[in-house]
Amino acid sequence: MLLVVASGNGREGVEGAMKVLRENGSAIDAVEAGIRRVESDPDEDSVGLGGIPNILGQVELDASIMEGRTLAAGAVGALTGVENPISVARRVMELCPHVLLVGAGARRFAEETGFVPCNLLTTPSLQKWRSRLPEQISENFRELEDRGELLPLVRAIAEKMRRAGTVNFLARDERGDIACGVSTSGWPWKYPGRLGDSPIIGAGNYADNRYGAAACTGYGELAIRCNTAHSVVLYMKMGQGVAAACREAMGDLAPLLAAHGGGMNIVAMDRQGYPFGITSSATGGSYWVMNEKSIAPEECELERISSAQAG
Ligand code: ASP
Repeated sequence: MLLVVASGNGREGVEGAMKVLRENGSAIDAVEAGIRRVESDPDEDSVGLGGIPNILGQVELDASIMEGRTLAAGAVGALTGVENPISVARRVMELCPHVLLVGAGARRFAEETGFVPCNLLTTPSLQKWRSRLPEQISENFRELEDRGELLPLVRAIAEKMRRAGTVNFLARDERGDIACGVSTSGWPWKYPGRLGDSPIIGAGNYADNRYGAAACTGYGELAIRCNTAHSVVLYMKMGQGVAAACREAMGDLAPLLAAHGGGMNIVAMDRQGYPFGITSSATGGSYWVMNEKSIAPEECELERISSAQAG
């Protein structure tokens, strides 16, 4: 069963990812193709080009990719000036003895392996970023970098501003190999150097051919603390179906969601390619599914589970 599953903001990459699979490409090629499309869209302000920047006005990107057959993985965090961090993550996976590179090291690796630097800050994302700064700071925003204290500003702006966004892609190819990828500009107005769950293998992203794959969007600090993506796969290993495994992982998050607010969405598939998605948001949400028989991506509702119900 050929399958592509994507988070709500992944719609425009789904057909391209399925095309890769239909042309006998690998699951990991499909995941990378789908995510690149979303990263390069300047109107998507939570991923890649045009992502809302950190508190200093720098767009810092996180991404990870994992191959379920070998458990090979690559990730980058707080990467600046590269439009397609998912491809850098893949290159880390394929060329580097490490799994995760961050900050200046990730940028250096990207340039060394042929990625062309670019400006990720678009005029609309600069405007959105400035609109939440106190007026006096917004007028002199170029001086922010020399400011001694950033923490009070991060607490005042970012803490209230949990809405972010992330793109997830999962794919299963002709050979039954599965792969999973995640990309984001992370928590807007974040403290420089903050990593969420997206580049942390096990937290925001996990794939294992023997059981399935899962990826998260939402309050990354909580997915890190519960190792959410890996938990879903582990619950499948322990015998649960994909829906039960997602509910169980959401249950693990429930006390943290109740204590800290924010939300979590999980998209997952089992090893046969049965998809499922779940959200802690009371207002729901959707994800995209396309299989070998589909003419177009199908929008599916995330199962709603309030943090009070979960756990
Ligand atoms: N999970 C992402 C992060 O914490 C953000 C999001 O999906 O809303 O960086």
